[in-house]
Amino acid sequence: MNNSNLNFKTLNNKILTSPNILSIIHASRRYKLSNRLKVGIIGATGMVGQRFITLLKEHPFFKVTIVAASARSANKTYQEAVRGRWCMEQPVPQSVKDLIVQNASQVAAISSQVDFIFCAVDMPKPEVLKLEQSFAKQETPVVSNNSAARLIPDVPMLIPEVNHAHLAVIETQKKRLGTKKGFIVVKPNCSVQSYIPAIDPLMDFIPAKILVCTYQAISGAGKSFQNWPEMVDNVIPFIKGEEEKSENEPLKIWGEVKHGQIINAKKPVITSLCIRVPVTDGHMAAVFVTFDKKPSKAEILNRWKEYKSKLEQLKLPSTPIPFLTYFEDQSRPQTRLDRDIGNGMGIAIGRLREDKIFDYKFVCLSHNTIRGAAGGGVLIAELLHHQGYLIAK
Ligand code: NAP
Repeated sequence: MNNSNLNFKTLNNKILTSPNILSIIHASRRYKLSNRLKVGIIGATGMVGQRFITLLKEHPFFKVTIVAASARSANKTYQEAVRGRWCMEQPVPQSVKDLIVQNASQVAAISSQVDFIFCAVDMPKPEVLKLEQSFAKQETPVVSNNSAARLIPDVPMLIPEVNHAHLAVIETQKKRLGTKKGFIVVKPNCSVQSYIPAIDPLMDFIPAKILVCTYQAISGAGKSFQNWPEMVDNVIPFIKGEEEKSENEPLKIWGEVKHGQIINAKKPVITSLCIRVPVTDGHMAAVFVTFDKKPSKAEILNRWKEYKSKLEQLKLPSTPIPFLTYFEDQSRPQTRLDRDIGNGMGIAIGRLREDKIFDYKFVCLSHNTIRGAAGGGVLIAELLHHQGYLIAK
């Protein structure tokens, strides 16, 4: 298996008008529904867990067979466990509502019933790392939304369109953990997912300095207006730990693989300010950037317009086509209007112009619980499945 150079299987050469729906239909034809991999969602009752449940409702590759959470929810039906705190627009799917919530600490029992897990739990970092490594050591691959393992050099932290080549370090990780099939892959923090995709097509102009201010939705804290009324008509200028993640994680994502480890990039230098704003879903970012080789505005716009991720050729069910959308309208993107672009997996960009201090400034937007959390996790799993890392036990 050559992970640094994906083996793209083109399913057809047609231009897709409604990419996700059509690609799901194509994918469903290729994979018998009975062959779907069994997946457990650890943290299934939370904000990200609920999003996983809805995104996986009719997934062609994966079927939710286990839902797990804390001892508070264990032994209830899923429907009972989320009663009064279900935040999704669609109702709890029939396929999971009667599943009995497992206690996430029952690692061996859960592992014996699934092929891999998605993990999104609100626990202290050392406990999360212990939990995730326990699953991996039970030969259960982990696709994680948590930050605990993100900075370990042999753990890929993926935005699949940007750094799929980092999957190569899984082999080193498996040696470290002493596993044959178990490993951890993580998804980066939701704050970086709006702006890394916009900067990535410009990397050969060598971005040297980035200043980013993020305007982040309350669902990013696992909250809704019902359980966080203090956020109505309010802005909070602090999100614990977010600025460090926003400044450091991109350097790993833009890092290179050497001797089975990811070596962080040294540039760009990033400074960030992360602010909680009163919207339900969608993280907006205002980005200021200076390049070593300053491109023209037309070159930047052209890069965004022409950007085609290699992932598009795989036609994975959750790949948005296009990945990047630039709005000429000065009043766009807007959180409420544009967060669902590409079924919540696309990135919306606008207001590119020259700046007096930096070279350029612009805004960008992504859906934090879809692209920034569960949807990003599902896309990672689809890629892992395509590349042969996820298989039936
Ligand atoms: P959340 O809504 O607070 O949900 C937390 C989940 O963790 C619940 O299912 C909860 O189960 C479970 N949990 C808590 N303590 C546990 C324990 N001791 N053992 C097992 N399960 C436990 O949080 P969230 O927003 O979904 O976030 C989950 C993770 O994803 C966090 O690491 C967060 O940083 C990350 N993340 C979130 C977003 C986002 O947009 N929300 C984006 C990217 C990453 P109970 O219901 O039983 O308490």
